[in-house]
Amino acid sequence: MTGHTRPAQPEYRPPTEATVKQLYATAFRCGKPECPRPLYRMNNETGETILNSRIAHIHARRQGGPRWDQQMPEADNRSAGNLLPLCLEHAAEVDETPAHYPADLLREWKREQLREYDTIQRAWPITDDQAAEAVERSFGPQQEATATAAAAAVAHVARCASRLVETSRQQRRSAADAAAAWQAMRARWAQRLGPFFAPDTGDRLTPDEAQVEPPRRDTEECESALRSTLRAAKEATEPVATDLVAELGAVRVVSRALGPWCDQVEHEVRALVGAAAKWDRSDSGDSAWSQAVARLETAVQALGAAWHEEEACSQPPQPTVRQSEATACPPAA
Ligand SMILES: [Zn+2]
Repeated sequence: MTGHTRPAQPEYRPPTEATVKQLYATAFRCGKPECPRPLYRMNNETGETILNSRIAHIHARRQGGPRWDQQMPEADNRSAGNLLPLCLEHAAEVDETPAHYPADLLREWKREQLREYDTIQRAWPITDDQAAEAVERSFGPQQEATATAAAAAVAHVARCASRLVETSRQQRRSAADAAAAWQAMRARWAQRLGPFFAPDTGDRLTPDEAQVEPPRRDTEECESALRSTLRAAKEATEPVATDLVAELGAVRVVSRALGPWCDQVEHEVRALVGAAAKWDRSDSGDSAWSQAVARLETAVQALGAAWHEEEACSQPPQPTVRQSEATACPPAA
């Protein structure tokens, strides 16, 4: 009896350390244009140079991977021309959402990265050990699964948060319409019954001051219309909020240091869902809801900034280069 064996999925070997050294010797910062993050950074306390990047494949080295090209021979697949050093976040992003990053675009980034090197002559001539580390971090079995996970999760949180805000905004329009219909109904009644005067002074009063309410039947109808839009808002926003909270859980797992920022985002998510389910008739500008949106956006930005702070160029090291300008930060492109 012969066992049922599935044909192995084609998978090429990772690039050699020599190729990796070549990559870092001809690039200074993340290959995504406009991204200022250097490929290595300096630990200010120890003076250590820390790998701050991963090597992305323009065409994946596995069948089914991002931008996999069946026609490409292994030698080309693992050559420098098919490899692009990127910061952690962007390395994760190009593989997480490959549809947004087609091979042609990445090739353009690659050309741009090399062009920049030709101009500024700054790069990272790394040692064999560092090259081995870069290979392990970029292509080691564990790393591919987890090292970029935090970056991907932070990016997911930001996307979920925009989706939550957008969903809530759409729902809010229906609630605003229902509230406006209610106001209009009251105004019609006030006009019919008014004007109103204070019994003691004889001063003219607004319908609110006079506490005039339309007939119960009309009020109830408007109230129930508003209630049902708010219920719909709750139903529409809650699943998005749940996704977002799950993503925050993923961020906490991969980066415990970001826990407090995640807690803050989660708090604001719940506050927004709460605000979206309420309508305060005295709050004519709907400011409670707007403030909840603004606070959530601020919290998400703070989380992103905290993540970048961990990875970005607080004090990038001064690479040994031919013309060391030794500036404190990478070139602004
Ligand atoms: Zn980047």
